[in-house]
Amino acid sequence: MTVMTQIAQGEILKETPSPGGGALNAPAIIAEGAGCHGGRETLREAAKAAGMTETLARYAKDYPVGPHDQPQSMCPAFGSLRVGLRMRRTASVLSGSACCVYGLTFTSHFYGAKRTVGYVPFNSETLVTGKLFEDIREAVFKLADPTKYDAIVVMNLCVPTASGVPLRLLPKAIDGVRIIGIDVPGFGVPTHAEAKDVLAGAMLKFAREEAEHGPVPASRAPRSEKPTVTLLGEVFPADPVQIGAMLEPMGLAAGPVVPTREWRELYGALDCAVVAAIHPFYSASVREFELAGRPIVGSAPVGVEGTAAWLESIGEAFGVPRARVDAAKVNLLPAIKAALAQTPIQGRVTLSGYEGSELLVARLMIESGADVRYVGTACPRTRFSEVDCAWLEARGVNVKFRASLQHDLAALAEYEPDLTIGTTPVVQKAKERGIPALYFTNLISARPLMGVAGAGSLAKVVNAAMSNKGRFDEMRDFFEGVGEGFAAGVWEEQPRDRPEFKAKRRAKMAKPAPEEMGAC
Ligand code: SF4
Repeated sequence: MTVMTQIAQGEILKETPSPGGGALNAPAIIAEGAGCHGGRETLREAAKAAGMTETLARYAKDYPVGPHDQPQSMCPAFGSLRVGLRMRRTASVLSGSACCVYGLTFTSHFYGAKRTVGYVPFNSETLVTGKLFEDIREAVFKLADPTKYDAIVVMNLCVPTASGVPLRLLPKAIDGVRIIGIDVPGFGVPTHAEAKDVLAGAMLKFAREEAEHGPVPASRAPRSEKPTVTLLGEVFPADPVQIGAMLEPMGLAAGPVVPTREWRELYGALDCAVVAAIHPFYSASVREFELAGRPIVGSAPVGVEGTAAWLESIGEAFGVPRARVDAAKVNLLPAIKAALAQTPIQGRVTLSGYEGSELLVARLMIESGADVRYVGTACPRTRFSEVDCAWLEARGVNVKFRASLQHDLAALAEYEPDLTIGTTPVVQKAKERGIPALYFTNLISARPLMGVAGAGSLAKVVNAAMSNKGRFDEMRDFFEGVGEGFAAGVWEEQPRDRPEFKAKRRAKMAKPAPEEMGAC
């Protein structure tokens, strides 16, 4: 049997014999609970025993969770994979269980990745003997073609992380191609948002150390003569343009967006006057900017109040004279106010997501007139979310960090909104109840939020959804009871409740289980 090091698109990079004959049979401690639905503690303990204590401790500090704070989210590794796949001249290689890699490549291509996902598979033998590390090493040597790549990113998923596969021992560069090895296990990185930071932070660290040791290539895009503001967090493409226009009267320009789309943009991002932490959860990236001596400002220019406060903060961080800050505000705020007034939102809203921009969206909706009662975010509370959190709480909004699906659904039940914006299961539950609902990721975070373009951009989609309430009621009435309770599932005949079967099963379950005789 052979295994392929590349499964998603394009040519096969390498075919190698599978030493274990194909069937995965990882060591007992891994096999016990190797998955995202269980065995978190087993994997964590295994990782510690395998020498990953320092990495896990860093993640615990960067991405804090309380004892009951693990939000339901997609596989965290998707965040770093997405960042890698969006970069030009960057190869992304996964090391993990085939089922995880299948899910990650599927999701990547569902979200429009146009690049190949590399894969170095393993079995229990290659994992236990250390051959997996040798296979990864061989794969990066084969891939490291400087005419094609600036960097190769290797990502350890849950099982290789728990087994301590030492990516740190990979060469730092091969023929000028940088090799970045990161661990993004579901038991150490809580959300896919934070996994973006794991990779962005690792790349910034590498680029910062390069810049400290000598000259580095200039950015492909022409660089502004003015001091720049690096934007930390993925934003809609029109937002940096809006932000650039806002900063102009203050003698500043918008710099690169981190995560960047190309390696050399990392140098430009580090070489800034101020960093705007638009998304507040980029802890590892913030550490690198702070080591580079850059001041960091939280929140973002959304709505009238948000924009005014953000311009003040940027001005203060860079020492911009007051007259220039005031000029920027006079230039901008009346136009934002007018745009908001032109497209009001009326109705009660609950909102949740895992992108990191939830609090900003809520601010903009409130300034548009919406009655926002609840904002849930899978991301943690950080010093950069404090301003937005305080602004929302002062307006009576229930803000929940590290929100779980249960928190979001409880808010839906408690506030009975006219519209809910949320993740897939929240939207599904809302629609079952006849409440209009919008997907945060696909419909809300794919819109401009900043400045004049952001003001009113949400109103159209939000108002259109709320005006559909009558249709939702009709649909709910029409489907009432279908596929619910005993009728759930696929039936070839008319579904029939069988209370006697349930009683029998309950009685069976109440009896003590027979003793297990051996393991196999
Ligand atoms: S790598 Fe992702 S999909 Fe696989 S077990 Fe870990 S969290 Fe789950």
